[in-house]
Amino acid sequence: MARKNVVILGGGSGGAVAANHLGESIGKDHNVILIDKKPQHYYQSSYLWMVRGWREPQDISRDLTTIERRNVRFINDTITNIDTDKRTVTTGHGELAYDYLISSLGFQTHPEMIPGDHHLAHHTWEMDAAIRFRDALKNFTAGRLVIGISSPPYRCPPGPYEAAWLIEDGLVERGIRNNVTIDFFTSEPGPLGGSGQPSEFMREHLDRRGIKLHNDFVIDRVDGDASTLRATDGRELPFDLLFIVPPHRPSQVLIDSGLATEAGVDVDVDTLATKWENVYAIGDSANMPASKAGVVAHQEADVVAHNIAHELTGHGQPTRLRLHTL
Ligand SMILES: Cc1cc2nc3c(=O)[nH]c(=O)nc-3n(C[C@H](O)[C@H](O)[C@H](O)COP(=O)(O)OP(=O)(O)OC[C@H]3O[C@@H](n4cnc5c(N)ncnc54)[C@H](O)[C@@H]3O)c2cc1C
Repeated sequence: MARKNVVILGGGSGGAVAANHLGESIGKDHNVILIDKKPQHYYQSSYLWMVRGWREPQDISRDLTTIERRNVRFINDTITNIDTDKRTVTTGHGELAYDYLISSLGFQTHPEMIPGDHHLAHHTWEMDAAIRFRDALKNFTAGRLVIGISSPPYRCPPGPYEAAWLIEDGLVERGIRNNVTIDFFTSEPGPLGGSGQPSEFMREHLDRRGIKLHNDFVIDRVDGDASTLRATDGRELPFDLLFIVPPHRPSQVLIDSGLATEAGVDVDVDTLATKWENVYAIGDSANMPASKAGVVAHQEADVVAHNIAHELTGHGQPTRLRLHTL
């Protein structure tokens, strides 16, 4: 068989797993190409441990060029267009033809969509922002800490609650917990949608740590002059240090190229196939009834990589996604 181009968009959780899998299985006989605008893979789950002081940036980053050891070519560039008629992907390196395309471009954070003085709000949903927050927290010794979620969907639904617990734990360790009040807000009726056991678990743990929960708190604006977060129903949360998980959206190139709506790319829930031939979407950018989580992206990447390798080699049997997580 002539060599085929298998192009993987995004070297995050889903893209890196798919590239590793395909490089190992078919990379000697076909061209497996991974594209990411960032030169490094960041292990996002550990951003919170970094803020807590348990990890340094270099502990949770890896150069994406290391994937070339596995018969994968890495292109470090921004993807500016995907043409499903011509079957090409455009970057600063020019147009690249694909036979198979896997999109794992994630969900991007948009802090600028928080109304008002959004620049005052910290978060830990990107590497650079997490480093800035870690530094701000080091200098914070007393006052009002407000932590919360602007609006779902966002990466890792339990993440903001874990962030609050880890921050609280760090304040206890520094002996300054009694100098700080912590308020937690969510635009939802309660943690993780507001009903069921996981929601109760989150409530209990916030309560145990003396963190006050504010449900249905929809941001009206960050009022920098008054150092107050205002809700649309008139509630106010004064702050000295503010942490807001920003709104998330699919990568703009997926929207501009007509592959995604704001909910992501529509896929078949068993195979992650899209309506375009040989085009798959996995991870956070796939419009799936599942959490936006690395553990989900990993399982989806395995299924798609397995099925493409099967199609190209005839080995094994096709498989379907059977998620063993929420
Ligand atoms: C603080 C935090 C804690 C988390 N904790 C957990 C956890 O405990 N367990 C868990 O399962 N998940 C967790 N997650 C979620 C998990 O990290 C994501 O769900 C996962 O990374 C999604 O994988 P992905 O491949 O879809 O996207 P990503 O890993 O986000 O990768 C997308 C990639 O696409 C690239 N990209 C986007 N647009 C372009 C473009 N135009 N051109 C080139 N490259 C582009 C980006 O640079 C990025 O590298 C956490 C996330 C955060 C932020």
